Amino acid sequence: MIKLGAHMKISKGFKKVPEDTVNIGGNTFQIFTHSPRTWNMKQPSEREVDEFKLNMNKFNIDFEDVLVHSSYLINLASPKDDIWEKSINTMVEEIKATDKLGIFYYNFHPGSHLGMGEEFGIEKIIEALDIIFKELVHTKVTVLLENVAKKGGNIGYSMEQLGAIINASEFKNRLGITFDTCHGFDSNYDIRNKEGVLKLFDDIEKNVGLEKLKMIHLNDSKYDLGAGKDRHEFIGKGYIGTKGFANFLSFDEVCKLPLLLETPGDDEEHAEDIKVVKEILKNIGKL
Ligand SMILES: [Zn+2]
Ligand SMILES: [Zn+2]
Repeated sequence: MIKLGAHMKISKGFKKVPEDTVNIGGNTFQIFTHSPRTWNMKQPSEREVDEFKLNMNKFNIDFEDVLVHSSYLINLASPKDDIWEKSINTMVEEIKATDKLGIFYYNFHPGSHLGMGEEFGIEKIIEALDIIFKELVHTKVTVLLENVAKKGGNIGYSMEQLGAIINASEFKNRLGITFDTCHGFDSNYDIRNKEGVLKLFDDIEKNVGLEKLKMIHLNDSKYDLGAGKDRHEFIGKGYIGTKGFANFLSFDEVCKLPLLLETPGDDEEHAEDIKVVKEILKNIGKL
């Protein structure tokens, strides 16, 4: 079964998300646990959790297919001690909330070294993750590192970098990855042709292990291959294009995973994009 959905807003509460998802034609989704541009968050109440779980079952959404995305201020590679510590604390709280909601996966951008160099940044991330997992011995959440665009001091634009973090972690078995198609395209992973996808799989296998790839962020790109701009586009309207996605989605390794849209706009636009993806899947015999 194809698992397809989009990033959903939580402004009407967690409990509304499963129904909103079904209304746009999805069967899975991604959410934040709180406003992504603030540090402060409060844990979901028992009542919120109960209502959410009830609706997950009512609308037939599998907890294992759903993803929580970290908030934007978190930077585990930050050279500023106060930001680094706040990042660790907020991430612990967000992962606790993920666990409370019964969701299995939490996704974050590895971080930005802000000019201190990649080696420095990678060390900070490894150290931070070890602290985080030591505080989370009682949660089962798997934490996914998302590949990002090569931009600013971003770490995690290559599988080598994601692998360097995961393989050095004391908690390797609790880590995995999300592949974002726009960010990957920004970093020269050309998924428009067979060779490009095989090269991507090879890179993942060599550095991380293909079994650690758990989620796909399905986004077209406003800019051409290798641009490093991180500008998401509607599916089929960007440089990856309908044919490019038809190629990418024809691989079982891809279409067996939850496919989550982070394309521009809101529910209405995402409903359109879901239609486009379903059309592509039909054309290649996957739906
Ligand atoms: Zn992201
Ligand atoms: Zn993404």
